[in-house]
Amino acid sequence: MGLDVNSIRKDFPILEKKIYGKQLVYLDNAATTQKPSCVVEKICEGYYSCNANIHRGVHFLSQHATEAHEAARENVRAFINAPSNKEIIFTRGTTEAINLVASSFGDSQCEEGDEIIVSQMEHHSNIVPWQLLRSRKGIVLKVIPFDENGELQLEKLDSLITNRTKLISVTHVSNTLATINPVKEIIKKAHEHNIPVLVDGAQSIPHLKVDVQDLDADFFVFSGHKVYGPTGIGVLYGKEKWLELIPPYQGGGEMIQKVTFEKTTFNELPFKFEAGTPDYIGSTALSTALDYVTALGMDNIAQHESELLEYAREQMAKIEGMRFIGNVSHRGGLVSFLVGDIHPYDMGSILDKLGIAVRTGHHCAEPVMQAFGIEGTVRASFALYNTKEEIDILVAGIERARKMFHH
Ligand code: PMP
Repeated sequence: MGLDVNSIRKDFPILEKKIYGKQLVYLDNAATTQKPSCVVEKICEGYYSCNANIHRGVHFLSQHATEAHEAARENVRAFINAPSNKEIIFTRGTTEAINLVASSFGDSQCEEGDEIIVSQMEHHSNIVPWQLLRSRKGIVLKVIPFDENGELQLEKLDSLITNRTKLISVTHVSNTLATINPVKEIIKKAHEHNIPVLVDGAQSIPHLKVDVQDLDADFFVFSGHKVYGPTGIGVLYGKEKWLELIPPYQGGGEMIQKVTFEKTTFNELPFKFEAGTPDYIGSTALSTALDYVTALGMDNIAQHESELLEYAREQMAKIEGMRFIGNVSHRGGLVSFLVGDIHPYDMGSILDKLGIAVRTGHHCAEPVMQAFGIEGTVRASFALYNTKEEIDILVAGIERARKMFHH
């Protein structure tokens, strides 16, 4: 059964908004998704009627808030099919989760000369934490390249792996090229060499059904705000054996068992990695968002978005001077493009005046831009509430911009 998009759109009041007197066409979903009313209401309900700091209180509200936060953890566990709640750590988002692993795993498991492998299509959030580790520990950062279509050159992975490789950290879906990477295959290969793998799921979690056990990922990270949840909350899934092995990331709050000035012992998982007051309102609202997409069906969402993508590429290909950046067949719900010599910023500004929200620039993936010898792209990214009519409006907008520049 497909999605009833007309009825779904009613769940997202912001989609009614007019921009410069035009109906909003929101195609910047890879940056962040809009929130359904149930998520916004959950946040309000949290502050209006359930707010109390969690874990330490004996009083009713504190216990209630604690139960909601822990129920959210269980819901996240089920959503990605993790074996245990202990393996679900709430973070501020993907970026913080990768920084956590780069610090805790990197500092404790890497020596000078050890190697971390990333790919050429990573978001800066999966590059810079490893460069910081390189400054601290003298590790070597190696890169799996992609080809002209935006496909990872996996045959090169064999020669990149050595007995100094400590971790491979790759994105599941590229936020600029839309490539869906064969992470299961990468993990299998890495495990043959006993190398753990971190998967950046920021762009896969809203679009694909994720099963961390099926992938056999050692770490899987994502942000709540990209899957219809609130900002400021995200998830690090880590296999228990790794999370037990590596030290805490930050100190304070819930992560301790006992503190004296001489010695502090740490709390058990998952609390060992959750220092300070967690975003318990955010976690419960994220849980509501996960319920929302689960009720619609991840397979239905994936199907809808891939139909939108195919339609968009088909229609956009008719535009004179259209150049797609990223041409793999197995791709997520976004399209990066350039038209003639029109600067992405100019294209984005013209589309904006027509009420169309797209993103322009390097999309925090400058190495991808360098590989193509370009400064940036225009990116239209789709969500479960987008329609073919909106794509028609986008295509007409691009055509209008093209005529303005190339009359
Ligand atoms: N990785 C990828 C692939 C992304 O697309 C993004 C967000 N654009 C991030 C990481 C960073 O996510 P956040 O800013 O929510 O931490």
